[in-house]
Amino acid sequence: MVPIQMVDLKRQYAKIKSQVDVAMQEVLESAAFINGAPVQMFGKELENYLGIKHVINCANGTDALQIAMMAAGLQPGDEVITPSFTFIATAEVIALLNLKPIFVDVDPQTYCIDPGKIEAAITPKTKAIVPVHLYGHVCDMDAIMEIADKHQLLVIEDNAQAIGADYTSKDGSVKKAGTIGHIGCTSFFPSKNLGCYGDGGALFTNDDALAAQIRMVANHGQSARYYHDVVGVNSRLDTLQAVVLRIKLPLLDSYIQARRKVADTYDAAFANHPKIVTPFRAAYSYHVFHQYTLQIEGADRLALQTYLQEKQVPAMIYYPVPAHKQKMFAAFGSSAFNLPITDELTTKVISLPIHTEMDEDQQSHIIESVLSFLK
Ligand SMILES: *Cc1c(COP(=O)(O)O)cnc(C)c1O
Repeated sequence: MVPIQMVDLKRQYAKIKSQVDVAMQEVLESAAFINGAPVQMFGKELENYLGIKHVINCANGTDALQIAMMAAGLQPGDEVITPSFTFIATAEVIALLNLKPIFVDVDPQTYCIDPGKIEAAITPKTKAIVPVHLYGHVCDMDAIMEIADKHQLLVIEDNAQAIGADYTSKDGSVKKAGTIGHIGCTSFFPSKNLGCYGDGGALFTNDDALAAQIRMVANHGQSARYYHDVVGVNSRLDTLQAVVLRIKLPLLDSYIQARRKVADTYDAAFANHPKIVTPFRAAYSYHVFHQYTLQIEGADRLALQTYLQEKQVPAMIYYPVPAHKQKMFAAFGSSAFNLPITDELTTKVISLPIHTEMDEDQQSHIIESVLSFLK
């Protein structure tokens, strides 16, 4: 059996190697490493795929979030509502900009921010909501947008884990995750569903003025060459990454299908198991399974992880410590937030390998290993 990895990027590369190698070679020979033509071309292609007016490429997903908040003009002391059950970047950039992270608990089924708990967290200082489409499940965006409209708040979607996911509104309209709020942010980190071969990221918006502001902030606050209107950052997608993304974007839907097939097989194997809660799929969210995450009940999750390791099955805890309990937020008094669902999930979740290259032998071995421990 081929060794099992959380994400098998080597085998994925092998299938597109001839294309990638040629495209990379062309970049090397052109020496257009920064702002080469493929960077703009990829941006246009991603606009078409997402059905959005503007894609602005940047250096990584963390930068995308930071640039979004800078471009939106958030000011020190402004409050930003976000979940604590997420990768740290979401909350980190809020604090970095001297904004105040206001943590709201997640829904126990979707693991995404619970819209029913947002309004109670809103104060006169609240300026934005940053929902995270965790593990590839889209948040309840109708409810979030309704609250945002009512209170005139900006919505910045952290779409690093859900690129390509569809969201179906109550009115039946379908949009891509990341294109529903005012700004969407994503990451092209190699292991993400659309990953490049280094760091990369992007912002999406339908708002022309916001797009112009985002472009300016991402490029040293520059409005015209060597004229700098605002304090910005230097955050670019490089040409080598863009050519990889141009090859992988047309494959994204097939990558999502492959992930969903793995998820379906896990779901069937673990259905109705007394110690396992399989991932929930809300009707409005087309889950793209960036992660396949179980909750383990009435068994020792860490012992399961160790047991799986002995069977050559990697498994990860995303995330063992919620943001509000991280030391970095001690000065914000964040540990005082009362987030019982988040706290409980961080003690129960475990993510199994899921990727585009999983074969039947591998998956059977993973399933048998999990079931033999939990019998
Ligand atoms: C990966 C990730 C990020 C950060 O992306 P980078 O490209 O690594 O900076 C932000 N938010 C979430 C939810 C992520 O999973």
